Amino acid sequence: MKTAVFSARRYDQSLLSQANAQAGHELVFIQDRLTADTARLAEGCTAVCVFVNDNVDAAVLGRLAAQGTRIVATRSTGYNHIDAAAAAALGIAVVRVTDYSPHSVAEFAVGLLLAVNRKIARASLRTREGNFELDGLMGFDLHGKTVGVIGTGKIGAIFARILHGFGCTLLGHDLTPNPAFEALGGRYVPVDELMARSDVISLHCPLFESTHHIVNAASLAGVKRGAILVNTSRGGLVDTEAAVQALKTGQLGGLALDVYEQEASLFFQDLSSTIITDDVIQRLVSFPNVIVTGHQAFFTVEAIGQIMATTVESLSDFEAGRPLRNRIPA
Ligand code: NAD
Repeated sequence: MKTAVFSARRYDQSLLSQANAQAGHELVFIQDRLTADTARLAEGCTAVCVFVNDNVDAAVLGRLAAQGTRIVATRSTGYNHIDAAAAAALGIAVVRVTDYSPHSVAEFAVGLLLAVNRKIARASLRTREGNFELDGLMGFDLHGKTVGVIGTGKIGAIFARILHGFGCTLLGHDLTPNPAFEALGGRYVPVDELMARSDVISLHCPLFESTHHIVNAASLAGVKRGAILVNTSRGGLVDTEAAVQALKTGQLGGLALDVYEQEASLFFQDLSSTIITDDVIQRLVSFPNVIVTGHQAFFTVEAIGQIMATTVESLSDFEAGRPLRNRIPA
Protein backbone atom coordinates (compact mmCIF):
# COMPACT_ATOMS: atom_id res chain seq x y z
CA MET A 1 0.00 0.00 0.00
CA LYS A 2 1.42 3.39 -0.95
CA THR A 3 2.13 5.27 2.27
CA ALA A 4 3.33 8.84 2.73
CA VAL A 5 5.46 9.03 5.88
CA PHE A 6 5.62 12.60 7.18
CA SER A 7 8.17 14.03 9.66
CA ALA A 8 10.47 11.20 8.58
CA ARG A 9 13.85 11.60 10.26
CA ARG A 10 16.79 9.35 9.34
CA TYR A 11 15.97 6.89 12.12
CA ASP A 12 12.30 6.77 11.06
CA GLN A 13 13.34 5.95 7.51
CA SER A 14 15.73 3.15 8.39
CA LEU A 15 13.66 1.57 11.19
CA LEU A 16 10.31 1.78 9.40
CA SER A 17 11.93 0.32 6.27
CA GLN A 18 13.31 -2.57 8.34
CA ALA A 19 9.92 -3.23 9.95
CA ASN A 20 8.31 -3.10 6.49
CA ALA A 21 10.78 -5.53 4.86
CA GLN A 22 8.32 -8.44 4.75
CA ALA A 23 5.07 -6.47 4.40
CA GLY A 24 6.44 -4.55 1.41
CA HIS A 25 4.33 -1.41 1.59
CA GLU A 26 5.54 1.35 -0.74
CA LEU A 27 6.89 3.97 1.65
CA VAL A 28 7.32 7.57 0.49
CA PHE A 29 9.43 9.39 3.09
CA ILE A 30 8.80 13.11 3.53
CA GLN A 31 10.98 15.06 5.97
CA ASP A 32 8.49 17.93 6.31
CA ARG A 33 5.67 18.04 8.82
CA LEU A 34 2.20 17.37 7.49
CA THR A 35 0.43 20.73 7.17
CA ALA A 36 -2.14 22.28 4.83
CA ASP A 37 0.81 23.22 2.59
CA THR A 38 2.50 19.80 2.50
CA ALA A 39 -0.63 17.60 2.32
CA ARG A 40 -0.34 17.62 -1.50
CA LEU A 41 2.84 15.51 -1.15
CA ALA A 42 0.59 12.57 -0.18
CA GLU A 43 -1.29 12.67 -3.49
CA GLY A 44 -2.26 9.11 -4.45
CA CYS A 45 -1.17 7.58 -1.12
CA THR A 46 -3.82 5.33 0.43
CA ALA A 47 -2.08 5.62 3.79
CA VAL A 48 -0.50 8.57 5.56
CA CYS A 49 1.83 7.99 8.50
CA VAL A 50 2.38 10.91 10.90
CA PHE A 51 4.04 11.87 14.18
CA VAL A 52 3.17 14.09 17.14
CA ASN A 53 3.75 17.51 15.58
CA ASP A 54 2.02 16.85 12.27
CA ASN A 55 -1.15 18.85 11.82
CA VAL A 56 -3.98 16.44 11.06
CA ASP A 57 -6.90 18.84 11.41
CA ALA A 58 -10.19 18.80 9.50
CA ALA A 59 -8.87 20.89 6.59
CA VAL A 60 -5.80 18.68 6.11
CA LEU A 61 -7.93 15.53 6.39
CA GLY A 62 -10.33 16.91 3.77
CA ARG A 63 -7.43 17.44 1.40
CA LEU A 64 -6.03 13.95 2.11
CA ALA A 65 -9.44 12.32 1.57
CA ALA A 66 -9.84 14.12 -1.76
CA GLN A 67 -6.42 12.80 -2.80
CA GLY A 68 -7.35 9.19 -2.00
CA THR A 69 -6.07 8.68 1.56
CA ARG A 70 -8.12 6.12 3.54
CA ILE A 71 -6.05 5.58 6.68
CA VAL A 72 -3.90 7.77 8.93
CA ALA A 73 -1.43 5.95 11.18
CA THR A 74 0.27 7.95 13.90
CA ARG A 75 3.59 6.65 15.25
CA SER A 76 2.54 7.73 18.76
CA THR A 77 0.21 6.93 21.63
CA GLY A 78 -1.18 10.45 21.94
CA TYR A 79 -3.50 11.57 19.15
CA ASN A 80 -4.36 15.12 20.14
CA HIS A 81 -2.85 16.26 16.80
CA ILE A 82 -5.59 14.39 14.87
CA ASP A 83 -9.21 15.49 14.46
CA ALA A 84 -10.63 11.97 14.88
CA ALA A 85 -14.25 13.10 14.40
CA ALA A 86 -13.41 14.81 11.09
CA ALA A 87 -11.53 11.69 9.96
CA ALA A 88 -14.54 9.49 10.77
CA ALA A 89 -16.87 11.82 8.87
CA LEU A 90 -14.56 11.56 5.84
CA GLY A 91 -14.36 7.76 6.11
CA ILE A 92 -10.65 7.83 7.04
CA ALA A 93 -9.57 5.26 9.64
CA VAL A 94 -7.12 6.47 12.29
CA VAL A 95 -4.76 4.15 14.13
CA ARG A 96 -2.12 4.78 16.78
CA VAL A 97 0.42 2.75 18.76
CA THR A 98 -0.73 1.89 22.26
CA ASP A 99 1.49 -1.02 23.11
CA TYR A 100 5.01 0.29 23.09
CA SER A 101 7.41 0.34 25.96
CA PRO A 102 5.80 2.55 28.61
CA HIS A 103 9.07 2.03 30.49
CA SER A 104 10.80 4.30 27.96
CA VAL A 105 8.76 7.34 29.02
CA ALA A 106 8.48 6.49 32.73
CA GLU A 107 12.23 5.94 33.06
CA PHE A 108 12.94 9.19 31.21
CA ALA A 109 10.58 11.11 33.51
CA VAL A 110 12.54 9.79 36.51
CA GLY A 111 15.77 10.80 34.77
CA LEU A 112 14.48 14.35 34.24
CA LEU A 113 13.37 14.55 37.86
CA LEU A 114 16.80 13.50 39.08
CA ALA A 115 18.51 15.86 36.64
CA VAL A 116 16.52 18.86 37.91
CA ASN A 117 16.55 17.96 41.59
CA ARG A 118 20.22 16.99 41.76
CA LYS A 119 21.35 19.55 39.12
CA ILE A 120 23.08 16.84 37.11
CA ALA A 121 23.16 18.69 33.77
CA ARG A 122 24.46 21.87 35.46
CA ALA A 123 27.14 19.91 37.30
CA SER A 124 28.27 18.23 34.10
CA LEU A 125 28.55 21.60 32.30
CA ARG A 126 30.61 22.93 35.21
CA THR A 127 33.10 20.07 35.31
CA ARG A 128 33.67 20.42 31.55
CA GLU A 129 34.82 23.98 32.32
CA GLY A 130 37.09 22.75 35.12
CA ASN A 131 34.71 24.04 37.83
CA PHE A 132 34.27 21.48 40.60
CA GLU A 133 32.43 23.74 43.08
CA LEU A 134 29.23 22.46 44.71
CA ASP A 135 27.61 25.86 45.35
CA GLY A 136 24.15 25.89 43.77
CA LEU A 137 24.02 22.13 43.22
CA MET A 138 22.17 21.04 46.36
CA GLY A 139 19.07 18.90 45.87
CA PHE A 140 16.80 17.00 48.24
CA ASP A 141 16.35 13.30 49.01
CA LEU A 142 13.44 11.79 47.12
CA HIS A 143 13.17 9.18 49.86
CA GLY A 144 10.29 10.10 52.15
CA LYS A 145 8.88 12.76 49.82
CA THR A 146 5.37 12.84 48.33
CA VAL A 147 5.02 12.36 44.59
CA GLY A 148 1.78 13.24 42.79
CA VAL A 149 1.02 11.38 39.58
CA ILE A 150 -1.66 12.89 37.32
CA GLY A 151 -2.76 10.10 34.98
CA THR A 152 -1.99 6.67 36.44
CA GLY A 153 -2.30 4.64 33.24
CA LYS A 154 0.49 2.56 31.73
CA ILE A 155 3.25 5.16 31.97
CA GLY A 156 2.07 6.87 35.18
CA ALA A 157 1.83 3.54 37.03
CA ILE A 158 5.38 2.54 36.04
CA PHE A 159 6.67 5.99 37.03
CA ALA A 160 4.90 5.49 40.38
CA ARG A 161 6.44 2.02 40.80
CA ILE A 162 9.96 3.41 40.27
CA LEU A 163 9.35 6.24 42.75
CA HIS A 164 7.88 3.73 45.20
CA GLY A 165 11.29 2.06 45.01
CA PHE A 166 12.87 5.37 46.02
CA GLY A 167 10.72 5.31 49.18
CA CYS A 168 8.23 8.01 48.13
CA THR A 169 4.62 8.38 49.25
CA LEU A 170 2.34 8.28 46.20
CA LEU A 171 -0.71 10.41 45.46
CA GLY A 172 -2.65 9.95 42.24
CA HIS A 173 -5.33 11.67 40.24
CA ASP A 174 -7.17 9.87 37.45
CA LEU A 175 -10.70 9.42 36.15
CA THR A 176 -10.23 5.64 36.34
CA PRO A 177 -8.36 4.19 39.33
CA ASN A 178 -5.60 1.73 38.42
CA PRO A 179 -5.29 -1.23 40.83
CA ALA A 180 -1.55 -1.43 40.01
CA PHE A 181 -1.15 2.11 41.42
CA GLU A 182 -3.22 1.31 44.50
CA ALA A 183 -1.18 -1.88 45.06
CA LEU A 184 1.85 0.37 45.59
CA GLY A 185 0.01 2.14 48.40
CA GLY A 186 -0.91 5.02 46.06
CA ARG A 187 -3.92 7.03 47.19
CA TYR A 188 -6.27 8.83 44.83
CA VAL A 189 -7.07 12.41 45.79
CA PRO A 190 -8.66 15.40 44.01
CA VAL A 191 -6.21 17.22 41.75
CA ASP A 192 -6.06 20.31 44.01
CA GLU A 193 -5.11 18.19 47.01
CA LEU A 194 -2.47 16.38 44.95
CA MET A 195 -0.96 19.73 43.90
CA ALA A 196 -0.99 21.07 47.46
CA ARG A 197 0.61 18.00 49.07
CA SER A 198 3.17 16.84 46.51
CA ASP A 199 6.89 17.66 46.52
CA VAL A 200 7.02 16.35 42.94
CA ILE A 201 4.17 16.43 40.41
CA SER A 202 4.45 14.34 37.25
CA LEU A 203 1.98 14.54 34.36
CA HIS A 204 0.99 11.33 32.55
CA CYS A 205 -2.55 11.98 31.30
CA PRO A 206 -3.44 12.56 27.64
CA LEU A 207 -4.07 16.03 26.23
CA PHE A 208 -7.79 16.52 25.75
CA GLU A 209 -9.88 19.69 25.92
CA SER A 210 -10.60 18.69 29.52
CA THR A 211 -6.91 18.42 30.42
CA HIS A 212 -5.64 21.45 28.45
CA HIS A 213 -3.74 23.67 30.94
CA ILE A 214 -4.52 21.30 33.81
CA VAL A 215 -1.51 23.08 35.31
CA ASN A 216 -2.32 26.80 35.18
CA ALA A 217 -1.81 29.99 37.19
CA ALA A 218 -4.55 29.07 39.69
CA SER A 219 -3.34 25.51 40.25
CA LEU A 220 0.30 26.64 40.48
CA ALA A 221 -0.72 29.10 43.22
CA GLY A 222 -1.91 26.06 45.16
CA VAL A 223 1.18 23.83 44.78
CA LYS A 224 3.41 23.14 47.73
CA ARG A 225 6.02 25.91 47.59
CA GLY A 226 9.20 24.73 45.88
CA ALA A 227 7.62 21.65 44.25
CA ILE A 228 9.15 20.19 41.10
CA LEU A 229 6.89 19.72 38.05
CA VAL A 230 7.73 17.08 35.43
CA ASN A 231 5.89 16.93 32.10
CA THR A 232 6.68 14.10 29.70
CA SER A 233 3.10 13.85 28.44
CA ARG A 234 1.97 16.73 26.21
CA GLY A 235 2.96 20.40 26.21
CA GLY A 236 -0.62 21.67 26.25
CA LEU A 237 -1.18 20.25 29.74
CA VAL A 238 0.84 23.16 31.18
CA ASP A 239 0.21 26.89 30.77
CA THR A 240 3.89 27.58 30.15
CA GLU A 241 3.74 31.33 30.79
CA ALA A 242 2.12 30.65 34.17
CA ALA A 243 4.90 28.15 34.91
CA VAL A 244 7.51 30.82 34.07
CA GLN A 245 5.85 33.19 36.57
CA ALA A 246 5.78 30.45 39.23
CA LEU A 247 9.48 29.79 38.66
CA LYS A 248 10.24 33.51 39.01
CA THR A 249 8.52 33.70 42.40
CA GLY A 250 9.98 30.40 43.63
CA GLN A 251 6.50 28.87 43.91
CA LEU A 252 7.79 26.18 41.55
CA GLY A 253 11.17 24.90 42.69
CA GLY A 254 12.02 23.19 39.43
CA LEU A 255 10.58 22.28 36.07
CA ALA A 256 11.45 19.40 33.76
CA LEU A 257 9.84 19.37 30.33
CA ASP A 258 10.17 16.86 27.52
CA VAL A 259 7.18 18.41 25.78
CA TYR A 260 6.25 22.04 25.20
CA GLU A 261 3.06 23.78 24.09
CA GLN A 262 4.69 25.42 21.07
CA GLU A 263 7.03 22.53 20.26
CA ALA A 264 5.71 21.97 16.72
CA SER A 265 7.84 24.75 15.26
CA LEU A 266 10.94 23.88 17.32
CA PHE A 267 11.38 20.23 18.16
CA PHE A 268 13.02 17.52 16.02
CA GLN A 269 15.13 20.12 14.17
CA ASP A 270 18.60 21.63 14.61
CA LEU A 271 17.94 25.35 15.12
CA SER A 272 21.33 26.07 16.66
CA SER A 273 22.31 28.43 13.84
CA THR A 274 19.04 30.34 13.70
CA ILE A 275 17.48 33.07 15.84
CA ILE A 276 14.79 31.47 17.95
CA THR A 277 11.89 33.91 18.19
CA ASP A 278 9.96 31.98 20.84
CA ASP A 279 10.71 34.07 23.94
CA VAL A 280 8.97 31.65 26.30
CA ILE A 281 11.24 28.69 25.53
CA GLN A 282 14.26 31.01 25.61
CA ARG A 283 13.22 32.26 29.07
CA LEU A 284 12.61 28.69 30.22
CA VAL A 285 16.04 27.40 29.24
CA SER A 286 17.64 30.39 30.99
CA PHE A 287 16.49 29.21 34.44
CA PRO A 288 19.09 27.19 36.39
CA ASN A 289 16.31 24.97 37.79
CA VAL A 290 14.70 24.06 34.46
CA ILE A 291 15.60 21.27 32.08
CA VAL A 292 14.04 20.99 28.62
CA THR A 293 14.47 18.07 26.26
CA GLY A 294 13.03 17.81 22.76
CA HIS A 295 10.32 15.13 23.08
CA GLN A 296 12.69 12.20 23.41
CA ALA A 297 11.14 10.22 26.27
CA PHE A 298 9.94 7.52 23.86
CA PHE A 299 13.31 7.31 22.13
CA THR A 300 14.65 3.87 23.07
CA VAL A 301 15.55 0.90 20.88
CA GLU A 302 12.69 -1.11 22.37
CA ALA A 303 10.02 1.58 22.00
CA ILE A 304 10.92 2.60 18.45
CA GLY A 305 11.08 -1.03 17.32
CA GLN A 306 7.57 -1.63 18.69
CA ILE A 307 6.23 1.62 17.21
CA MET A 308 7.44 0.73 13.73
CA ALA A 309 6.27 -2.91 13.92
CA THR A 310 2.79 -1.91 15.11
CA THR A 311 2.51 0.77 12.44
CA VAL A 312 3.32 -1.72 9.68
CA GLU A 313 0.92 -4.26 11.22
CA SER A 314 -1.89 -1.67 11.16
CA LEU A 315 -1.20 -0.83 7.51
CA SER A 316 -1.24 -4.53 6.58
CA ASP A 317 -4.43 -5.18 8.56
CA PHE A 318 -6.13 -2.26 6.83
CA GLU A 319 -5.03 -3.41 3.38
CA ALA A 320 -6.25 -6.97 4.09
CA GLY A 321 -9.57 -5.74 5.53
CA ARG A 322 -8.82 -7.17 8.97
CA PRO A 323 -10.05 -5.44 12.18
CA LEU A 324 -7.79 -2.61 13.36
CA ARG A 325 -6.52 -3.36 16.86
CA ASN A 326 -5.30 0.19 17.49
CA ARG A 327 -8.12 2.14 15.88
CA ILE A 328 -8.96 5.48 17.50
CA PRO A 329 -12.70 5.94 18.06
CA ALA A 330 -14.24 9.03 16.43
P1 NAD B 1 -2.76 5.52 29.22
O1 NAD B 1 -3.98 5.67 28.39
O2 NAD B 1 -2.32 4.16 29.62
O3 NAD B 1 -2.89 6.40 30.55
C1 NAD B 1 -3.43 7.70 30.56
C2 NAD B 1 -4.19 7.86 31.87
O4 NAD B 1 -4.64 9.21 31.96
C3 NAD B 1 -5.43 6.95 31.96
O5 NAD B 1 -5.39 6.22 33.17
C4 NAD B 1 -6.59 7.93 31.92
O6 NAD B 1 -7.71 7.50 32.67
C5 NAD B 1 -5.94 9.16 32.54
N1 NAD B 1 -6.69 10.38 32.31
C6 NAD B 1 -7.47 10.71 31.26
N2 NAD B 1 -8.04 11.91 31.48
C7 NAD B 1 -7.62 12.34 32.69
C8 NAD B 1 -7.86 13.50 33.48
N3 NAD B 1 -8.69 14.45 33.07
N4 NAD B 1 -7.24 13.61 34.68
C9 NAD B 1 -6.41 12.62 35.12
N5 NAD B 1 -6.17 11.49 34.42
C10 NAD B 1 -6.75 11.36 33.22
O7 NAD B 1 -1.63 6.27 28.38
P2 NAD B 1 -0.05 6.13 28.58
O8 NAD B 1 0.47 5.13 27.62
O9 NAD B 1 0.26 6.03 30.02
O10 NAD B 1 0.42 7.56 28.00
C11 NAD B 1 0.12 8.75 28.70
C12 NAD B 1 0.50 9.95 27.86
O11 NAD B 1 1.92 10.01 27.73
C13 NAD B 1 0.02 9.91 26.40
O12 NAD B 1 -1.31 10.37 26.28
C14 NAD B 1 0.99 10.81 25.70
O13 NAD B 1 0.47 12.13 25.70
C15 NAD B 1 2.24 10.79 26.60
N6 NAD B 1 3.40 10.18 25.91
C16 NAD B 1 4.54 10.93 25.78
C17 NAD B 1 5.66 10.38 25.15
C18 NAD B 1 6.96 11.15 25.01
O14 NAD B 1 7.84 10.71 24.26
N7 NAD B 1 7.16 12.24 25.72
C19 NAD B 1 5.59 9.08 24.65
C20 NAD B 1 4.41 8.35 24.83
C21 NAD B 1 3.32 8.90 25.47
